[in-house]
Amino acid sequence: MSGRGRFAPSPTGQLHFGSLVAAVGSWLRAKSRGHEWLVRMEDLDRTREVPGSAADILATLAAFGLESDLPVIVQSRRRERYEQTLQLLRDAGHVYACHCSRSDLAEFNGVHPANCVRLGSAELAPAAWRVRVGSAQIRFHDAVFGDIEQDLDKQVGDFVLRRSDGLHAYQLAVVVDDAEQGIDEVVRGADLLDSTPRQIFLQRLLGLPTPGYLHLPLVLDEDGRKLSKQLRSRPVDARDPLPALRDALRHLGQHAPSLPSPEATLRAALQRFDPRAIPAINRTNVAMQDD
Ligand code: GLU
Repeated sequence: MSGRGRFAPSPTGQLHFGSLVAAVGSWLRAKSRGHEWLVRMEDLDRTREVPGSAADILATLAAFGLESDLPVIVQSRRRERYEQTLQLLRDAGHVYACHCSRSDLAEFNGVHPANCVRLGSAELAPAAWRVRVGSAQIRFHDAVFGDIEQDLDKQVGDFVLRRSDGLHAYQLAVVVDDAEQGIDEVVRGADLLDSTPRQIFLQRLLGLPTPGYLHLPLVLDEDGRKLSKQLRSRPVDARDPLPALRDALRHLGQHAPSLPSPEATLRAALQRFDPRAIPAINRTNVAMQDD
């Protein structure tokens, strides 16, 4: 059976160089294994969305020779699926309503304790839904960064699956979508390494398969900060894709030939794709710089 990889941008601005690296890396990895490559638009958080950027990102990807093998899935049209999944967890007693505000949690260093600290309080804010992590310790193998381990209770705490404003959390949506789309390996930026144990935890609660994981080295600016769309750093130029494409391939440690089109460049890079050449940039520094 043929497998699937994916690239899942959030439409919070134009495609920047760091996202291009994730797109190219996930494409090369999927294609080198004879798999399909899908694009999914992660637009759940409408407050962060920049109007027009979803279409702009897709057009930019196409200019780089990167097109989804199946129709693009858009998360904002799939809220019912996320709600059904939340209901399953609610029925099984894995989630609870939580009225804590950020300031309530300050004394816990952001790691949510095993119960809502405001339960029983007179004026309750609208509830978020949190999943109980218990004493879960999650281990997984990343194809670039090696063995990773996280104590969810000490490092993360009970985490939000639906925010108090009704928005389903990324952690829930990504698990539902990766499973439903049959993604068998997730390739994305190393800023999400620390989210992976939460996603594996949810997969286990829901009885879903855990895909393989390969995290790509982040692109940092001169001060060692992650490039993000929020900073509007270096949007790539869809009218002149070759320099950025070659730069992305070099960042991934891959063959970056001088050929006349993005398609020819990608094909040549694919023929010589070597996942062992992808550099594992120190993720601790990266995580500390993350926003
Ligand atoms: N939507 C996320 C982003 O734009 C990526 C999520 C993922 O690949 O799991 O950074």
